[in-house]
Amino acid sequence: MTPKQRIINRFIGYVTIDTESDPNSNTTPSTKKQWDLANKLVMELKAIGMSDVTIDDNAYIMATLPSNVDHHVPTIGFISHFDTSPDFTGANVKPQIVEDYDGKDIVLNAEENIVLSPDYFEDLLLYKGQTLITTDGTTLLGADDKAGITEIVTAMEYLINHHEIKHGPIKVGFTPDEEIGRGAHKFDVEKFGADWAYTMDGSQIGELEYENFNAAGAVIKAKGKIVHPGYAKGKMVNSMYYASEFINALPRLETPEHTEGYEGFFHLHGINGKVEETTLKYIIRDHDKDKFEARKALMEKIVLDLNTKFEAEVFEIEIKDQYFNMKEKVEPVMHIVDIAEEAMKQLGITPLIKPIRGGTDGSQLSYMGLPCPNIFAGGHNFHGRYEYVPVESMQKAVEVICKIAELTAQNQ
Ligand SMILES: [Zn+2]
Repeated sequence: MTPKQRIINRFIGYVTIDTESDPNSNTTPSTKKQWDLANKLVMELKAIGMSDVTIDDNAYIMATLPSNVDHHVPTIGFISHFDTSPDFTGANVKPQIVEDYDGKDIVLNAEENIVLSPDYFEDLLLYKGQTLITTDGTTLLGADDKAGITEIVTAMEYLINHHEIKHGPIKVGFTPDEEIGRGAHKFDVEKFGADWAYTMDGSQIGELEYENFNAAGAVIKAKGKIVHPGYAKGKMVNSMYYASEFINALPRLETPEHTEGYEGFFHLHGINGKVEETTLKYIIRDHDKDKFEARKALMEKIVLDLNTKFEAEVFEIEIKDQYFNMKEKVEPVMHIVDIAEEAMKQLGITPLIKPIRGGTDGSQLSYMGLPCPNIFAGGHNFHGRYEYVPVESMQKAVEVICKIAELTAQNQ
């Protein structure tokens, strides 16, 4: 069997196991079915010859590839998550293989007329002539992040079978529940024992990310007074009008639909209104720590100003930090990004370094003491029926992992 076919088979073996996570569950993993793939991964890691393969009560998997050199080399790690997004079903995934992609529309499902088209998803044209794995149009694919797992396992297997590649100690970590924001929560950084790590959880080939948003959530409550509308003059206070004053006091163009790159925003993602009380739910995002703090301060000031204006405690606000920009933790150890960039260059991959407009498990891990940039896993259009992954990108990711291991050993 060719290495390419092996990687396809391995990937299909993972994505055909349903591991959808569930934000409404309090257990870890959030769904029992995640154990199905977790247990399989443990067996596989043992089978390829990894050491110290463990799985804990929360289904966090760790394994070690010991160093094959005499001198000291820092311990590096590679991390992926095995759950898939609850945004779209991950049950009964039936991967389709498109060989030698011709740059035209791909009919995912003729019956339901579901087409993956470069007219809409122009990234497809990057992969002309390559082998694509797509869905059958009725599920997501799960390349996020089973492509990452496929790549890490394949790279470890390659290093085990190629002693001539010199490397230091390498740790592997697979987590549940990343898609519901809990992948890092119960990750035992001390047990993992790496000096730094990489999540293999980015998208397009070349992506390398070490900056993400600072993030907070805000809940604003406006209080009113309900009175029979027929007798309301001078008595009724309609909280929904108050709430709209708050909404309009924020800069209208600093919202997700008007921003990009390093521009931060306020995002109103929920309103629950009655005359008596209206609740507004926001998320606040900014790469810059000072601007992030200023955004939170602005919301609090608007609440104070409006309470003063209406001469009453009409508004209450509660702001909770969610995660922070990993840049702060990665910049002091910038060589970990440089090594990844150098690895890509040596392999003829153009590094695409850009700020993430979101968070990753790596941002949480970075603040838990494990600096953790994010590297491409190769897939596109995550969390939906148009998800696909070029096999060649997965193969390149395998090479990047091996090259990072090699460069880390050389740099010492
Ligand atoms: Zn992911």
